[in-house]
Amino acid sequence: MKDENFLKENNARHMWHPMCHPADSLANPPRIIKAASGVRITDIDGTEVIDAIGGLWNVNLGYSCAPIKQAIADQLEALPYYSTFRGTSNDAVIELSWMLREFFEPDGLSRAFFTSGGSDSIEIAMRLARQYHKIRGEAGRVKYLSLKKGYHGTHMGGASVNGNANFRAQYEPMLPGCHHVPAPYAYRNSFGERDPETLAQLCLAALEDEIAFQGAHTIAAFVMEPVMGAGGVIVPHPTFMPGVRDICSRNGILLIADEVVTAFGRTGSWSGSRHWGVRPDLMATAKAITNGYFPFGACMIADHVAEVFENDETGKANVASGYTYSGHPTGAAAAIACIKETQRLNVVANAAERGTQLFHGVLALKDKYDVIGDVRGGEGLMTGIEFVSDRATKAPLDAQSAGRIQNAMFDAGAMARISGPNMILSPALIISEADIDGILSAIEAGLKAA
Ligand code: PMP
Repeated sequence: MKDENFLKENNARHMWHPMCHPADSLANPPRIIKAASGVRITDIDGTEVIDAIGGLWNVNLGYSCAPIKQAIADQLEALPYYSTFRGTSNDAVIELSWMLREFFEPDGLSRAFFTSGGSDSIEIAMRLARQYHKIRGEAGRVKYLSLKKGYHGTHMGGASVNGNANFRAQYEPMLPGCHHVPAPYAYRNSFGERDPETLAQLCLAALEDEIAFQGAHTIAAFVMEPVMGAGGVIVPHPTFMPGVRDICSRNGILLIADEVVTAFGRTGSWSGSRHWGVRPDLMATAKAITNGYFPFGACMIADHVAEVFENDETGKANVASGYTYSGHPTGAAAAIACIKETQRLNVVANAAERGTQLFHGVLALKDKYDVIGDVRGGEGLMTGIEFVSDRATKAPLDAQSAGRIQNAMFDAGAMARISGPNMILSPALIISEADIDGILSAIEAGLKAA
């Protein structure tokens, strides 16, 4: 390992960081994280803080999950890699697909297509949706609808259904045929509607309008996160996702649930779709499937969609997509250990309880600090704070000031993430009551200092 001086001198010099201006990471070198344990991370200067982000919403079981580490080590010894392209498989991935079938049975999803992460999982879901319609003789269903403010990763497909211009503008033109409808974002929306239930109905009506405008027969799928994460933790009213399900079903449109963040317990339910009582047709998962210890994901497929492929007699059902690391045995072994541990610890219960504590704690801060315009969350351990420079006009806080709050919060003992004017809090699902209190006092200290 190179020494500290070497690391500091070369920090960001020979690499570009995601979601960052290359000049900015040179001018403001990123914090070097050297170690982690439990729910805490330690930087190169020896400062230890609570990780209020949980890695990147993926380290649900914290950094010391011994069974996953052991499973990875054992699998590296036995079979570090082999492909699952046509003709070969491995024991870990077979066992994992069996486990996932059981895990997602209440969601009606029984087949998995393995990937290396969330963007891959969305990409394959979008492809399978078009292919499903082609097999069924509806080749004209090629478009995708999604929500403004949604985030669906960085591949050209997922980025095309992303609903945030920041992630698209420099890469346009995107995939043709991707159209966006209003999100149920009560704090800001063009309907001027603050009541979540009425807003949900207005957004559903807008979706129906868009379908009528495009023509249902041209639309392959609707893509949505059950709770919108990177967009700033936008929690829809409980009637919204069931309403989307109903509209999709009535129009022959597949519902792709992007559960890259929400699957495996984050919302306080085992999946975000289950949280809202909805069965999607395809579900993208990744992140917490291996607790962040190995890049891995799975696109889960509903029985009735799978059967269209499996019973195909047209010859169109060959899945002509796949990743070198689809079904990676080491990732699969990590996922098996992770899911067992996730269930053994029953993390959903803690996510729900600690999520309520975090949400109400932040709500109380809103009463004291005008810079907090809106607080969102309450469904598990996903909380968003939207900062404003003026509560009356809702003018968003500039990035520099939000960064100052984040830095002061770090100095006070907790690492949070800033996305636009939002602070996102998504700690490990095993977090204790005392550590949630620690996050809350760090936020308050950060707000005071900044
Ligand atoms: N979908 C959602 C909802 C996400 O939050 C993310 C990543 N934050 C992705 C897709 C993309 O996943 P990945 O970064 O693993 O490619």
